[in-house]
Amino acid sequence: MPLFKCTFLGCLCPGVRRHGSCSLCNSHLCAKHLGQDFHRCPDWRVNEREYWLKSKEAEIAEITALLSKVNLRALRDRAAALRKVDCTVTPSYDHQSRPSVMGGMNYHIPIYFVDGVTWIYRIRRRNMTTTPLAHQNRLILSEAATYKFLSSRTQIPVPKVHDYSIDSPSNPVGVGYILMDKLEGKPLSNCDFKKAGKERILSQLADVFADLKQHPFNEICCLLDPDDLSVGPVLDESTIDADENGNLLLLGPFKSALEYRTSSIKHQIDLILRGESYTNNAIDAYLVHRFILDSVIESITQNEQGPFFLKHMDDKGDHILVDDEFRIVGIIDWEWAQTTTQSEAFAAPLYLLDVGLYYSGSNKLNPKEVEFASILKKRGEVGLAEHVYGGRVAHRLAHCVGADSGDIEDLPNHFMGLLRAVFPGRNEGETWEQWREGAMMMYEKDEDLQNLIQRCSK
Ligand SMILES: [Zn+2]
Ligand SMILES: [Zn+2]
Repeated sequence: MPLFKCTFLGCLCPGVRRHGSCSLCNSHLCAKHLGQDFHRCPDWRVNEREYWLKSKEAEIAEITALLSKVNLRALRDRAAALRKVDCTVTPSYDHQSRPSVMGGMNYHIPIYFVDGVTWIYRIRRRNMTTTPLAHQNRLILSEAATYKFLSSRTQIPVPKVHDYSIDSPSNPVGVGYILMDKLEGKPLSNCDFKKAGKERILSQLADVFADLKQHPFNEICCLLDPDDLSVGPVLDESTIDADENGNLLLLGPFKSALEYRTSSIKHQIDLILRGESYTNNAIDAYLVHRFILDSVIESITQNEQGPFFLKHMDDKGDHILVDDEFRIVGIIDWEWAQTTTQSEAFAAPLYLLDVGLYYSGSNKLNPKEVEFASILKKRGEVGLAEHVYGGRVAHRLAHCVGADSGDIEDLPNHFMGLLRAVFPGRNEGETWEQWREGAMMMYEKDEDLQNLIQRCSK
């Protein structure tokens, strides 16, 4: 069954994931009811000002409702008992404090101890885009487990986790949480590290890669439980589903890269056919996923027999906190971390890419990536350097499979980039239009494609 049902009165269709969830009017909408004839919320591309005004109102309502569920006294007592030092808990939400207390998925309440130490109470935001509670609880446990793994087995700087709890009636604080150190430092994505800090940052990043390489896993998975660091299914949002009773269905863990990729792509094809993803470009997305499954994925996974390695799956740069001297203070936001193939785990983090060039479809490496690879090479980490040089396959694949951005321009560029990265020299100069025409012919007898064409022509 769909993860979300369309909330339009009388509609029985599945809600479109991500952009079908509107926090402005608190709706899940199917492809039809997302259309302008039915859905009247401001579109940020058309009326940016009105969109942001409405968003702000919705966010205030969301945070007010979330805070009303938190038992602040129980939270203060818990923190004070753990540290045996008195503290105060002061939630804040205003224009000025917003960037420091919330991100897209989480909200932080600072806990101030009388001796000057500060912790944060990290809780999951709740709005129409929020996945089911069972998934949210697994994310809390997995993130806490990942922090425990990193702090106990590696030298990678991370905040210390002092306590955690899932969202359940036995949690006296009322909302599932992670209680952790607050780190000082600013996000790397806010810093210009082109000159002074570049070498220092890349060198510390090389330390992180070299450290993660020392910790192989037998499976592609997420860490499951902070108590024993056991492993469990993959929690990436694009891979989750629900059965007919609304119970969470998850993929993995996987013993092989081929099994993992095949399973993720088939799931995505299901979502496209069910009208839950890529509703703006369903035929393109179907052809791309089908073709990758049939003709690309074996080439990518043939040298990926394992072992597998932990990766921060949201490495855009705001997850790294640095001081004024570009020393990494800590790496945060590990909620989506999972183990994966070496080529994906050790491809350059996204913040080293020239995003404009990359999104235009070019596979040319950014000078920062080249410099990073050469630092790894100089240290004798030739294998890691090779993964950085060859990183485009992993980057493109991640942006082709299950990465429905809602922008129909993205998929052709990522997909043609993927083909050029996996099969260099083959069909050189082929355009997206030419490839698509060929794929339509290749799959003309495919029943699912025909049904989709019919659905899209209505
Ligand atoms: Zn709306
Ligand atoms: Zn509907």
